[in-house]
Amino acid sequence: MAKTGTDIAYSMQLLAGSALVAIPTETVYGLAGNALDARAVAQIFKVKERPTFDPLIVHTSGLDRIPDFVESIPEKAYALAAAFWPGPLTMVFRKKAIIPDLVTSGMDSVAVRIPRHPLSLQLLQSLDFPLAAPSANPFGYVSPTCARHVDEQLGEKIPYILDGGSCTVGIESTIVGFDGDKVSVLRLGGCKIEDMEKVVGKVQIKAHTSSNPVVPGMLHSHYSPLTPVTIGNIPQLIREHQGKKLGILSFDQLYDDIPLAQQFVLSKKGDLDEAATSLFTGLRQLDMLNLQLIIGTYVKEKGLGRAINDRLRRAEAKRN
Ligand code: AMP
Ligand code: MG
Repeated sequence: MAKTGTDIAYSMQLLAGSALVAIPTETVYGLAGNALDARAVAQIFKVKERPTFDPLIVHTSGLDRIPDFVESIPEKAYALAAAFWPGPLTMVFRKKAIIPDLVTSGMDSVAVRIPRHPLSLQLLQSLDFPLAAPSANPFGYVSPTCARHVDEQLGEKIPYILDGGSCTVGIESTIVGFDGDKVSVLRLGGCKIEDMEKVVGKVQIKAHTSSNPVVPGMLHSHYSPLTPVTIGNIPQLIREHQGKKLGILSFDQLYDDIPLAQQFVLSKKGDLDEAATSLFTGLRQLDMLNLQLIIGTYVKEKGLGRAINDRLRRAEAKRN
């Protein structure tokens, strides 16, 4: 078990010494290390068993600090920052040499975010370097949305978990890139497309293209439990897989003939934001039951529903 608590001074001391600390954010828990220290960054890849072609997001506490490690910030990025930072939006900018190549998988751009969590913001404000932080889970598995999730999988490998409670958004950040005046969405996530379009006009969605070379980390299969997952019409899938020990990840209702303990409802009131918050907890809980198959359903393709569907698609892809 890793030491767990709310000690900012201790976290600072560890991070300054190139060690890693798991930190809370509103999206998911991050595995944080000094983003300017290649040794700390190498440790992140090692602990997560993450391939080094999958670049990391750099976290900082304020817009005023970004010019320290980024060449320039486009006009529309300022507008998005004003509307959504601190928050579940990551923006990709041209990097300065101070960011080690390992952070960006050798690319000349860096992904940056200001997270919306009081503990982590306080930590970032107190540090004189930004933090590189991917999700605090083994590569490819479901992301952690509370300190216990982190401890269950990485507890033996890291010295400290800064415990900030359960993540309020519960799904990774939306990632956007800029090409002149154009804004492209590289990964669907916690910041809604509809909300962004109110600020910068139409955005182009380039997500889901796992072969997209602009986003090396966008693997088709990701966020996957160990149990096979299939997504579709739940009653029909229950019939098709009769006789198997099934788990149900449903949007808003329970199903007859399946034991209650094997069902997880994302949002009883059918709310997409609430469903996003509980998605990874649901996948983890079902994954611990020794089931033969987890059956789920896609939700409405709007708001956070887009990001939920994206994660479900990738959880399912593991089997193929
Ligand atoms: P996470 O695994 O949530 O930490 O998110 C990291 C993801 O951010 C990577 O898998 C990439 O898809 C994306 N990313 C990070 N850096 C860049 C970059 N410079 N350009 C484009 N996408 C990036
Ligand atoms: Mg991750």
